[in-house]
Amino acid sequence: MGPENPPSADANANPRRIDVHHHMLPPEYASLTRDRILEITSGDTTVLKWTPDVTLEQMEQFGVASSILSLPVPGAWYEGKENSRKLARIANEYGARLSKDYPGRFGMFAALPLPDVDGSLAEIEYAFDSLGADGAYLQTSYDDKWPGDPAFAAVFDELNRRKAIVFVHPTEPCCCANLIPGIPSNVIEFVFDTTRAITSFLVNGTFSRCPEIRFIFCHSGGTMPVLAARIHGFFQARSALASRVPNGVLYELKKLNYDIANATNNSSLAALLNLVPTTQILWGSDFPYRAVGPTANGWDNYQISPEIKRAVNRENALKLFPRFAGASGKK
Ligand SMILES: [Zn+2]
Repeated sequence: MGPENPPSADANANPRRIDVHHHMLPPEYASLTRDRILEITSGDTTVLKWTPDVTLEQMEQFGVASSILSLPVPGAWYEGKENSRKLARIANEYGARLSKDYPGRFGMFAALPLPDVDGSLAEIEYAFDSLGADGAYLQTSYDDKWPGDPAFAAVFDELNRRKAIVFVHPTEPCCCANLIPGIPSNVIEFVFDTTRAITSFLVNGTFSRCPEIRFIFCHSGGTMPVLAARIHGFFQARSALASRVPNGVLYELKKLNYDIANATNNSSLAALLNLVPTTQILWGSDFPYRAVGPTANGWDNYQISPEIKRAVNRENALKLFPRFAGASGKK
């Protein structure tokens, strides 16, 4: 507990949350990817009405001091290499402009045009060195590959060299679109794809090869916390995999960071809290894809100590993003 977060008896005190899962829809990006965005939302156009003012109003209402902005699905990978490089650049320059125009209120995870490795390496250099990105935004799968795939190793090696924060957002994997009629992919497939992505990093040795990357996964880890022991057991039974995770599966899973967006219910939080130290848990909202209220109220009402609530609302994120220490948000 730092001096900027003194104990308070006032339950209504502004929690000054740091939201690590908050989407932006840059107008030019949204118009170029409109068809895919609407496919994901099953035709609901609400997210297309997003503006910085809409986001700031929600941040005020729910005590969010700072939001690290990122693209929504489909991210920067859409309709081929050249178009994707262009989308990443549009998004990153827009996010950097908001970060500059609203100091302390907004940060940015840089979009990368993965699976285009050369384009991603070039965009990492530009976004980190020229735009001051707070981290990188990646997705849980790209076409038929999950992100630990050896084809992407150069990108993670570079992010490791930079000790980058890497926000891994779920998406609909190619294998599993429209599996169950009437159930959109973001209900089930997104959270299973988080587990696939983490398993892909484990089996390819990415976590142990790139120990300086600070990973953030979404939605209280998706389905991973309840499958962790099963995955751990598989690796233990295969001695050939020992070199990929020399410190063990559970060591790596406990090192990752997890946001709690749209997953502040008892069963999701219980599974996550039984797996990882509370230092690894971050606050996120998933706005405008989800209303902020349910996550905020779910967390504020969850039966856990005020110290842990403060850590998740703000202090854990400050260790990753110290530049937001001065941002208080208005209230
Ligand atoms: Zn999201």
